[in-house]
Amino acid sequence: MKIVLDEEEIGVLECIKEAHMDRGFHIRDIIKKAKAGYGLSRSTVYEIVGYLEFHGLLKTNEHGNRELDLNISYFVTCTGCGKDIPGNEYFKENGKAVCEDCYLEEHQRIKFADPVAVRSKKLFRKQHGFEGTEGLTELQKEIYSFIIEEGGSTPEMISKLFKLTLQETRNQLAILRHCELLKWRKMGDEMYMVPFDS
Ligand SMILES: [Zn+2]
Repeated sequence: MKIVLDEEEIGVLECIKEAHMDRGFHIRDIIKKAKAGYGLSRSTVYEIVGYLEFHGLLKTNEHGNRELDLNISYFVTCTGCGKDIPGNEYFKENGKAVCEDCYLEEHQRIKFADPVAVRSKKLFRKQHGFEGTEGLTELQKEIYSFIIEEGGSTPEMISKLFKLTLQETRNQLAILRHCELLKWRKMGDEMYMVPFDS
């Protein structure tokens, strides 16, 4: 059965991860953290802990303490696009769980080529064994192959060709840029996206 956790349940899980020690965790610490961090009441915490136990995410260890079982997979719903994402792949954005795409999209509006984002995206892809265009959406793959074939293209050209708004085109290009599949190059007066290793 697929377990999809809601916001409060994720909050409690985050508190458990923080308070977790070798021997397990103590529910008092979780109650304190959940109250301070998420405004959850004692009874809500107990209810959620019971729910997590029911689904096997929490179990009682040989010391008689509760501990997290990281082998049980769970999902969270992206608050940006509503997609269910594996529990180990979500990002926290203002305390809310979002998927990688929504996280990047949000950050690209602020900074287009953020070196920290490049590092984390690369690390994320490396951790998940993604190489080249693996893990990209079909649209991103198509844009990428187009640029590889053409040797370079401007966001304006891509936006016309793929019938996307300029903002959406820039978001898609930024993801490819973050994956270090493409990079910017000035040609004449125009900025082109070109293959990363060209
Ligand atoms: Zn999303």
